[in-house]
Parts: sequence; structure tokens; C-alpha cells
Amino acid sequence: MTLPVVLISEEEIQTRVGELAEQLSTDYGETDDLVLVGVLKGSFIFLADLSRRLTIPRTIEFIAVSSYGSNSTSTGAVRLVMDVRGNIEGKHVLIVEDIVDTGHTLKYLIGMLESHRPASVKTCALVRKAERAEVEVQTDYLGFDIGDEWVVGYGLDYAEKNRTLPYIGIVTPDD
Ligand code: 5GP
Repeated sequence: MTLPVVLISEEEIQTRVGELAEQLSTDYGETDDLVLVGVLKGSFIFLADLSRRLTIPRTIEFIAVSSYGSNSTSTGAVRLVMDVRGNIEGKHVLIVEDIVDTGHTLKYLIGMLESHRPASVKTCALVRKAERAEVEVQTDYLGFDIGDEWVVGYGLDYAEKNRTLPYIGIVTPDD
């Protein structure tokens, strides 16, 4: 089996994650009630690295949604599979997402989390495919913009494979 072609190297990812952590530590420096909400499964590595590099207090929650099956065809419909466990009312929520493609998932998540009455909801995505956007949704903190390619690694999978690659690479679905 051939390995995915490197699109964003491990070093580039680590540098950018460090920059995002520094920016977040500055922006949220005045609050001690920041909650990082990781979107399962794809954000688990990004969330782990990002949260360990923050220099401010934070707690961690997870949420799970499903919009894709085991292949890369979007239905546009997003379904909540697991809600946050802790009480996020009055807290500053930062959604930590692996990738923004059409934007449907992030838009749904913002609305869903706002219904818990937090003090604020912002978004942080590792990767965004700007040209694929179908709905307007704000990515407040962004790692990288990429083209219209299916990417894997650093938490991202294709049919559950390649999640633990240290870099982000390109695969052709149905290879
Ligand atoms: P959206 O709702 O923005 O279209 O899709 C967001 C979700 O689609 C992501 O959280 C991710 O699960 C999945 N997704 C979209 N593009 C890719 C990709 O290139 N690679 C992987 N692994 N997942 C993707």
C-alpha cells in the first residue's frame, strides 16, 4: 500500500499549532473559563497538541457528529451523535474542528452549542477547503487553507485509515 503524498509536513503542522496556541493564549488570557470542544473523531490529535501548548487555564469537552459515512460523499445533513457532558453555560467555548469542507458541520455545531447558553462560541479549524464552502460560517482561528482534495493524517481518516500519520497527506478516494 502506498503512503499518502505529503501536503502539509509534520514540521509545518507543529509550527502552526504553536502559533495558534500562542494567539489563543493571548486572546483568551483574561478568562479562566475557556472550554475546548473537540469534534470527534478527526480533531483528537489536533486538540491534544493544541491544548498542551496553551499557557492559560482550559477544560476539555468532546462532541460527536456524523455527516459522512465511510466514504467521502457529503449528504449535507448533520446528526448529533454525542453531546458535551459538562455544563458549558456561561463559559467561553472554542470549537476545535479538524476540517471545514462545505461548512454544514461547523454551522450546525455553532447553533447546537449556542443552545447551551455559553458566554461565547468561536471556532478553530486545522484545515479549510475554502473553495468548497456551501454555507457561510466563520473560522475564527485557522491552521491552513487547502484545495479540493481528500486529506488524511493528523487525526483525519479515509475509511478509518491513516488517522495517525504525523503529516497531512492526499489520497484519492476509492484508490
Ligand atoms: P462539512 O460539513 O464542512 O462539509 O464537512 C466537515 C467534515 O467532513 C469534517 O469534520 C470531516 O469529518 C469531513 N471531511 C471533509 N473533507 C475531508 C477530508 O478531506 N478528509 C477527511 N478525512 N475528512 C473530511
